[in-house]
Amino acid sequence: MDIKSGFVGTVGNTPLIRLDSFSRETGCEILGKAEFLNPGGSVKDRAALYIIEQAERQGQLKPGGTVVEGTAGNTGIGLAHICNAKGYNCLIVIPDTQSQEKIDLLRTLGAEVRTVPAVPYSDPNNYVKLSGRLAAELDNAIWANQFDNLANRLSHYDTTGPEIWAQTEGKVDAWTAATGTGGTYAGVALYLKEKNPDIRCVVADPLGSGLYSYVKTGEINPQGSSITEGIGNSRITANMEGVPLDDAIQVDDPEALRVVYQLLRQDGLFMGGSVGINVAAAVQLAQDLGPGHTIVTVLCDGGARYQSRLYNAEWLATKGLAMPQ
Ligand code: PMP
Repeated sequence: MDIKSGFVGTVGNTPLIRLDSFSRETGCEILGKAEFLNPGGSVKDRAALYIIEQAERQGQLKPGGTVVEGTAGNTGIGLAHICNAKGYNCLIVIPDTQSQEKIDLLRTLGAEVRTVPAVPYSDPNNYVKLSGRLAAELDNAIWANQFDNLANRLSHYDTTGPEIWAQTEGKVDAWTAATGTGGTYAGVALYLKEKNPDIRCVVADPLGSGLYSYVKTGEINPQGSSITEGIGNSRITANMEGVPLDDAIQVDDPEALRVVYQLLRQDGLFMGGSVGINVAAAVQLAQDLGPGHTIVTVLCDGGARYQSRLYNAEWLATKGLAMPQ
């Protein structure tokens, strides 16, 4: 019998998908780890599970306890599902710039949701810092602290990285992903480099994020902005410390949009915006490396979470963007 045990038993072991149209165009194998197929619908289910189970093992999270987190949505969605499955409460602080679909879903899942104005990390009212304070004030509560809790990248070092290595039988030339917390990029990069130091590990970065300039010049100097959600950072999180950074590729919104619409129309894949950044970076790497190489990236979440934005011509127009023809 092959039966998974509930939500928790279904996290991970996602397929690795050849992105046919992009592979054909580049003569490379462009492969996407299908994280949108996790039971909570995103790559963040893995980190959410590791964070909760670490807190349980360490005796910090007890029956009836509360998990508190500041999140762009997907970590909160993963945490809320796991809290339901394990009998915990969930309190989520989310910036009001995130899609209504994610906020509605969090409420449907039973999380208590506080939307707050999006302010920089340096501001004490930043959503991450507020979530930390709320956790400290509540009895029997933990702060998931995904940005600096190393259980996040460990989930990818222990699971996503080994899955990619096994699924490609070690035939990987390059790995690229955009970073929010950096957990996915870091855990996979650390694992793959251990297996083969020649694998190129390249950060994909949207405009408005500081990692591209950090890799290129050593200084964090964010410029511009992006409609993509859940990615981009203006600091080096604990999860990104000491991580291989062979190079960085910056991708703008028109290019990310072109990619998500090609995935939709030519590959049959309905994806979120960060996937556009990731696959655009993978294509650029393929062009740099030349035909015959294998490049792996992540398909972080699906398009339904962004129906009213990325897939809505009127909303795109408010951002000065056109729906690709
Ligand atoms: N894409 C999406 C849609 C996300 O929600 C996130 C997480 N915030 C990421 C990518 C980046 O994942 P990580 O936190 O592991 O860097």
